[in-house]
Amino acid sequence: MQLLDGKQTSQDIQQEIAVQVEHILKEGKKKPHLAAILVGNDGASETYVGAKVRACEKVGFDSTLIRLDDSISQENLIAEVEKINQNDNIDGLIVQLPLPAHIDELSVTKAIYPLKDVDGFHPENVGKMTLNIPTFLPATPAGIIELIKRYKIETEGKHCVVIGRSNIVGLPMSILMARNSYPGNCTVTLTHSRTKNLKEICQSADILIVALGRPEYLTEDMVKEGATVIDVGITRVKSDKTKSGWKLKGDVDYTAVADKSSFITPVPGGVGPMTIAMLLKNTLTAVNGFDV
Ligand code: NAP
Repeated sequence: MQLLDGKQTSQDIQQEIAVQVEHILKEGKKKPHLAAILVGNDGASETYVGAKVRACEKVGFDSTLIRLDDSISQENLIAEVEKINQNDNIDGLIVQLPLPAHIDELSVTKAIYPLKDVDGFHPENVGKMTLNIPTFLPATPAGIIELIKRYKIETEGKHCVVIGRSNIVGLPMSILMARNSYPGNCTVTLTHSRTKNLKEICQSADILIVALGRPEYLTEDMVKEGATVIDVGITRVKSDKTKSGWKLKGDVDYTAVADKSSFITPVPGGVGPMTIAMLLKNTLTAVNGFDV
């Protein structure tokens, strides 16, 4: 079994980005600038946004965190997005999800200028990803693709099973793994809560990407010997062993599955840090433009 070390790989990528920022500054250009909008004060969202802002500082980006009250109307939130769209000093914008129930996430996502949509959630960017036109890839799937690439995991002709079909993880993941490229060229099965015989489907997977948000759901008996297992899940579970009173659990029963797998991501230290690295990479792309 080989550990897919997302923490180390993320640090490597951040180092590469920091070097590129130095070049940009030497050319007399301004620092890349990421803005994040956080609505309300959900604990997990605070943690994620805080980590993104700290990562910006580390690589030499400017960052702006806009905190808005959770009573804000959809109209006023979209007006805030518009302001950033118009601000030439800001290269990338993310609106941390989830948003309060009275706000339609799609309407807000659609309001973001596609060339600043570094989360890759705008329908225009999702369409481009689907058609394999250079665009911002959503950060979590992009992070998984990058890990597969850097660890040189074979994907061609493999059976890839994705558990979960969310717009931000499972669905784009299935599209990327099926693309005619490397990583890609997999035969993909996209599964969800209505899938029948999930255990049998998983047992035939060469690559398992698990993103359903249920701690330790994927058990050893669902995994083929030698499979690659990517655990996207992060759930806070109560713990009396930590100061915070909770710890993070993945969707994979790591201890039991690790011995059976050829490659596996840990939680924490796997997909999570890669997500942040790819968000920074997307922001740099917003500055430099796409390779076409
Ligand atoms: P989500 O929007 O809640 O979607 C969950 C998906 O799992 C849905 O498609 C659902 O099916 C499916 N599902 C639920 N129970 C299932 C079951 N028993 N069998 C098969 N499929 C089942 O979740 P998400 O946003 O994709 O996030 C998934 C997990 O990844 C969460 O733990 C989240 O915190 C984590 N996450 C981590 C990162 C990171 O950076 N590491 C980033 C994003 C998300 P239906 O569609 O049929 O309801």
